[in-house]
Amino acid sequence: MKTLESYVLGRWHAPDGQTRTLYDPSTDEAVAECGTGGIDFGAVLDHARNVGGPALRALGFAERGKLLKSLSAAIYEYRDELLDLSVATAGTTRGDAKFDVDGATGTLAAYAHFAKELSEKDFLADGDGVQLGRTARFWGQHIHVPKHGAAVHINAFNFPAWNMAEKMACALLAGMPVIEKPGTPTAMVAWRMAQVIVDSGLLPEGAFQFLCGSSGDLVDRMGPQDVLAFTGSSGTGALLRGNANLVRHNVHVNVEADSLNAAILAPDVETDSETYGLFLANVQLDMTQKTGQKCTAVRRVLVPESLIDDVATDLVAGLARIQVGDPRDSANRMGPLASREALDSVRAGIDALAAEGEVLCGGTDAVHDKGCYVAPTLVRASHADVDTVHALEVFGPVATLIPYSGEADEAVRLANRGGGGLVASVYSNDKRWTETVVLGISPWHGRVWIGSEKVAEQALPPGMVLPASVHGGPGRAGGGQELGGLRGLEPYLQRTAVQGFQGLVAATFGA
Ligand code: NAP
Repeated sequence: MKTLESYVLGRWHAPDGQTRTLYDPSTDEAVAECGTGGIDFGAVLDHARNVGGPALRALGFAERGKLLKSLSAAIYEYRDELLDLSVATAGTTRGDAKFDVDGATGTLAAYAHFAKELSEKDFLADGDGVQLGRTARFWGQHIHVPKHGAAVHINAFNFPAWNMAEKMACALLAGMPVIEKPGTPTAMVAWRMAQVIVDSGLLPEGAFQFLCGSSGDLVDRMGPQDVLAFTGSSGTGALLRGNANLVRHNVHVNVEADSLNAAILAPDVETDSETYGLFLANVQLDMTQKTGQKCTAVRRVLVPESLIDDVATDLVAGLARIQVGDPRDSANRMGPLASREALDSVRAGIDALAAEGEVLCGGTDAVHDKGCYVAPTLVRASHADVDTVHALEVFGPVATLIPYSGEADEAVRLANRGGGGLVASVYSNDKRWTETVVLGISPWHGRVWIGSEKVAEQALPPGMVLPASVHGGPGRAGGGQELGGLRGLEPYLQRTAVQGFQGLVAATFGA
């Protein structure tokens, strides 16, 4: 069994004291242990602030962009090893592992590309200058400068590679040193990636630190120039947001939490159309990719009453073709959940959904003797306004069909009952219906994805988070926002209004 170390204060640190065991969820075998006992978290923050930060800021934006490109290439060299490790320790199929690992290198490369338009200097002009006085002599210009603290990233277990890389890309490009903490059950992939990053020698000392295990009292020691970006459940997000130290120092906190993502089928879609095929393919993909452990996976499928029998039949037939088992065997198209805790939680969730409807396929029965397997499970709600489906995230290969009238206003009302989501997908070729739904659900969603005949051939699936579009949503989704091209840098930058003589302000700080 491997011992996973943390990388802090310029060296690898073995756990001192209590450790947590990581299990391969495909076989239940113990694969590693980790722990952060013995780490001085205050010193870790200081190392980032006092060593990593100045070194990164000295480089300027354009140079940091080039670093991201090299980092992406360095990790890509280990692609096969990382994919194998993910399959062997995290229960992912090879396709799922690619989604995570290629997502990581792709996002780093995308940010290197976005950085090409940035200056060599260490500030960014924000928009045009503006006349503030009686004449243009008194002038104002907004600028962005990197914060002088540490970016602490607490990540979820479901994307050990991508979650770390997408946060790092934005913080490092902005000029802030990072302290990365992966979700423990799948930390082995993140740990190996951390080794590759450290061994590459690309980042200045102090720019990258890695905690494998609990974050201890790190959050209680953060200060006003630090940033906390968290991805995980709503419960943990709320706990961190309410942390007294973070509140006292007004530390910027970005929360990416869970979401009851809806797919909405419009009544104009015919069952022999390309749009219908796209809808079926995406719902099935979302339910089974990464065993449904995607924050953007569809949980609620709103279907007009006139179409719900067809949809139920077609989805059940499609899901029956998904072979569930050890992902080391490529015939298996869906692996296990990531841990025993996840399995218990998903089974309890299926029971709760089943109490308000009918289980059409799957359920809570054991799929294999060993491992954390659950079958793809489709539930049909007894009516549109059952409560649990609009309130409970079952983080696994589980979705619920919800019958509705087909009216655009009804679709909006039901989609928004999720209380704030990361993404909603809308399938229609009716322009007016689509416009009503998109505008009605946009205040409650960070992203709205529209599937139609026009894009059926090339649309990337709604569950895929792209670096050029924002990720995050209001309400229960956490209220945060990440990515979205250069918008993703904003949490790590201070916007400052510089006011003074135009000859100085415009010439020195203007675009
Ligand atoms: P989680 O239990 O909330 O854990 C998330 C992270 O927080 C882990 O690194 C965990 O560490 C850490 N953590 C837990 N308690 C903490 C505390 N008191 N103080 C500091 N850190 C703490 O969530 P998860 O089970 O890993 O992830 C699944 C959830 O994440 C789902 O609800 C999913 O929807 C959501 N998610 C959201 C997004 C998004 O972008 N919005 C993306 C992926 C997942 P340990 O693992 O060491 O306990």
